[in-house]
Amino acid sequence: MAESVSMVPGADTPDGVESFFRQALEGLPGMVFIVDAKGKLLAWNHNLEQFAGIPSESLSGASLMEVVHPEDRLGAWKMTRNILRSGKSDSTEVRLIGRQKRRTLEYLVQASRVKLQDRNCIVGIALDHSARKMVEKELAIVRKMLLERNENLRVINQLYDRLQGYHDLGTILQASLETLKGYSRINTFGIFLYDPETRNFSLAVNRGFDEVMTSDGGVLPSSGSLTGLALAQGSIVLSGDIGLDHRLEPRVRQILLARNINAAVVIPLIHFSKPLGSINLLFEKTPDIGESELKTLLTIGHTVSTALANSRQLEDLQHRAYHDGLTGLPNRLVLHEQFGRMADAMESQGFSMALLLLDLEHFKKVNDTLGHQIGDALLRQITQRLNSQLAEHHARLFRLDGDEFLILLPEISSIESTLSFARSLLVELKKPFEISSLRLELSGSIGIALAPRDGGDSRSLLRCADIALSEARRQGCGVSMYNRTLDRYTVERQSLVAEIGDAIRGKKFCLHYQPKLDLASQQVQGFEALVRWQHPRFGLLLPGAFIPLMEVSEAIHRLTHEVLRQGLEEQRRWREKGKDYQLAVNLSARNLADERCLNDLTKLLHQYDVAPGLLELEIAENTLASDPEEAVRLLNRIADLGVRLAIDGFGGGHSSLTFLRRLPINTLKMDQSFIQSMAESKEDGLIVRSTIDLAHSLGMRVVAKGVEKAATQNLLKEMGCDLMQGNYYCPPKAWRELERWLRG
Ligand code: C2E
Ligand code: MG
Repeated sequence: MAESVSMVPGADTPDGVESFFRQALEGLPGMVFIVDAKGKLLAWNHNLEQFAGIPSESLSGASLMEVVHPEDRLGAWKMTRNILRSGKSDSTEVRLIGRQKRRTLEYLVQASRVKLQDRNCIVGIALDHSARKMVEKELAIVRKMLLERNENLRVINQLYDRLQGYHDLGTILQASLETLKGYSRINTFGIFLYDPETRNFSLAVNRGFDEVMTSDGGVLPSSGSLTGLALAQGSIVLSGDIGLDHRLEPRVRQILLARNINAAVVIPLIHFSKPLGSINLLFEKTPDIGESELKTLLTIGHTVSTALANSRQLEDLQHRAYHDGLTGLPNRLVLHEQFGRMADAMESQGFSMALLLLDLEHFKKVNDTLGHQIGDALLRQITQRLNSQLAEHHARLFRLDGDEFLILLPEISSIESTLSFARSLLVELKKPFEISSLRLELSGSIGIALAPRDGGDSRSLLRCADIALSEARRQGCGVSMYNRTLDRYTVERQSLVAEIGDAIRGKKFCLHYQPKLDLASQQVQGFEALVRWQHPRFGLLLPGAFIPLMEVSEAIHRLTHEVLRQGLEEQRRWREKGKDYQLAVNLSARNLADERCLNDLTKLLHQYDVAPGLLELEIAENTLASDPEEAVRLLNRIADLGVRLAIDGFGGGHSSLTFLRRLPINTLKMDQSFIQSMAESKEDGLIVRSTIDLAHSLGMRVVAKGVEKAATQNLLKEMGCDLMQGNYYCPPKAWRELERWLRG
């Protein structure tokens, strides 16, 4: 040190040394001082003078402690004493109070013991530490913020990960609960879900809620709760002092205060302005929630809301995919998906199950004439009525199509009990329905298939039930149980069309005849020819088994020709025996699509020399729907031949008498669905009576078909119906048998 001083020019005299040190001290960046053992200033530099703001003459002998912040003085004293005692240099951080006590700055003081005139003194330097301290403080704040953000991000990430891929409500709530549990500052919280029907919120999951808080099911009202407010505002709601917060219902406030809960934060759960619920966080003390944490809470809210909304949407989609929107009933998909499990359970217990396929008659008519609103209301009432019948049988109802329902009846005890259950359903359906002051009556048919007897899976069983249903409809008997004979030829049905040529040549088609009774004279007026196929493998086939197949191909023309030929041949024999019976032959829609039938007819009438007025052709009501213009043109040309025309099954479709007036129609055959129920149903009776009157006024003759009871026959006679046909009087028979019947 001495050496380096001596190198300074002019430093070789005592004055020179002092001046050198003085300059050096003044050049140092901090405040330099020498104090005695009591802390009294002995020497100092200009920086100290400036900082203290005290003139130099007053500084001498002043206590350095004056400029030390009172809280740091003890520490400073201790350091001074230690240095004096040990002689070891030391340093400390102190706050120094500057000029006129305006500025308090942080300093690092480094001090050492020196001997001046045999007195132990302290020499020290105080360096301004404030800037560094400030940076350190800021760093600490940033660090804290980063840590907080990190924690927030961790929570959000965790929540996102947990909710990822889950769509079921329970899992979403549980995952949200677990995530919030991991959020260190929150101990008591609950997730509430909004019920749009009651407009209340009910507690779904919670942590720390006690029994009292959940005693009423944890239900919060929309008004008078922070939850309702948060939902209405669409933003987080904070309550810093629940005791004073009159936005809360007094009851809720009291419950919370009694549990030392004084603050709350409510995060709304909203998706596209649709309220879903809320997350309610409860605190003992007002929480210090910064902006970043608020953002985190909002993000948690958004994440949970999205998951909840997705889950609801999926649920809704699933419900729609599996349920009929009108009646809320499960549909065909549910049947197919659940059937296997149910069948296995039944089978393992040794039970059989029944599938009842129910088809409503005339439902389409209700829809067409009274409108879809009435039709929809009717379907809802039907659903209710059926469901009320099914409960005690543990049966399940499905809606398969417009007017087609399926009933799954488990644990059936016998075939008879199943049949009678099905009939009881039809009886129930027959009771009038009241809709918008209208009284509507319905009838239906049921086809039944049994599992495992008729099949092991829902699709094949449905097919069996459908076949049984067709049979029930065909026979008009209401209920029919599937049996193999109904179905045995279905696999080979397609081949029937190819066989028609051989069948005609081989005279395999024959006609059965059903007599028509003149109700006034009680005499047989004529016969309807009904075709049958004596099939080598399937036995005697009724028209329902082959006509629909032939109607979709050209085969129908050959069949109609054959029926006309056989019928007219038979009629010629009647005439030869002096009987002028009228013959009725059914035509198909396809027969009216071109001139083939007309040409055949012209030739056959000529060949058998029949009085054309003794031949009546029956045309189904719906035949006219496909190409009415062409059909009308052909009907006129047939009528020109002198052949009579009848509309078959009138009332079953939806043509009006006014439309029929444009046609050369001589006879109206009323649909058997009206005829069969007219004795029991006043409305059907009225329809029959007014149809008869109207037809008469248009110059048409009326035939009632499907008469099965004496009461119906008597009513028809009383109503002035002209002719009647039905199993009650005589079912269709081969001519040889009919001859006996006529004689008998
Ligand atoms: P459709 O013209 O309505 O013929 C009357 C059907 O009702 C016949 O059935 C007959 O057996 C049945 N039936 C008669 N009385 C009663 C009764 O009191 N109660 C019930 N429930 N049913 C009764 P089938 O012979 O099975 O004929 C079914 C349908 O096949 C006929 O209905 C007709 O549309 C069609 N069809 C029959 N023969 C021919 C034909 O030669 N050509 C065409 N294109 N169709 C035919
Ligand atoms: Mg007919």
